[in-house]
Amino acid sequence: MSVLIVGSMAVDTVEFSSTGECHELVGGSATFASLAAGLYTDVRMVGVVGRDFPDSMLKSLAARRVDLAGVQIVDGETFRWHGRYNADLSSRESLDTRLNVFEHFRPTLPESFRSSRVVLLGNIHPDLQSEVLDQAQRPELVAADTMNFWIKGTPEALLRLLRRIDLLIINEEEARDLSGHKVIAKVGRALRALGPSRVVVKQGEYGAFLFDEHGAFHAPAYPLEEVVDPTGAGDTFAGAMLGYLDAQGPITPASLRRAVVHGSAVASLCVEHYGTKGVVDATEADVQERVRAFGRLVHYENL
Ligand code: AMP
Repeated sequence: MSVLIVGSMAVDTVEFSSTGECHELVGGSATFASLAAGLYTDVRMVGVVGRDFPDSMLKSLAARRVDLAGVQIVDGETFRWHGRYNADLSSRESLDTRLNVFEHFRPTLPESFRSSRVVLLGNIHPDLQSEVLDQAQRPELVAADTMNFWIKGTPEALLRLLRRIDLLIINEEEARDLSGHKVIAKVGRALRALGPSRVVVKQGEYGAFLFDEHGAFHAPAYPLEEVVDPTGAGDTFAGAMLGYLDAQGPITPASLRRAVVHGSAVASLCVEHYGTKGVVDATEADVQERVRAFGRLVHYENL
């Protein structure tokens, strides 16, 4: 069993109103998602970095059951993203996005990656997400994440991709933009009509909704007293969700719901530290403890 993950591998600059600017934070959708999925199952990673990408992160990934055979290391600068959070960390703006080595990137799946059971197309140009899918042989579940940059920049490519996937994982604000609806149940229905039979809408500190043929399911986010850096929470959520699903065996309505809880649990470990530190340092015991805490959070009978 294994999860194939494609997405960005990045070096980020992130601005916080309380603590100032953090430079040279390693990030990227594939980085967070692979670290998270690697807590559960074997991961096959596809992406590209420049020579400036820290070796220490490649080592952390390799230590976490991540096969890096699909990661190209090329001349040039790694993808760079610069973002700024508002004071309560509930929203952020992208100040600068430099594709750098992603501009000429053509994902190529090593032969051994083609028959992956679960595929996570992390946030990246939708045409690149499609190219990865073209090379995969009949995966059981294809999930994709996306963001405003692509919803606004490459809508046709994104709509083409949506018709080919089983699960869309998307932020609430972006889900509203993409669906043209405001009310969450209508958002879920409209997004499912675009292709994916299942849709997860991530609501930051308010949790996540899953919409599928069984209706709506909601998991809260863990009520942390202090959030340090929300960057990567969404990718961590997606990686943990898909990693858990793969490790569980058959994908059922119940395992999908449990997977949403695991996604929320690992995402809560991510946001307690800057950059990838929270996910890199997380152990299986930390995850189990956080998942148990989720159980207590929603348990209301026979206390
Ligand atoms: P998240 O907070 O889960 O949305 O993920 C944040 C990560 O996404 C950061 O580490 C960025 O490097 C990466 N990122 C930001 N913008 C993009 C983009 N347009 N395409 C791919 N990755 C991006």
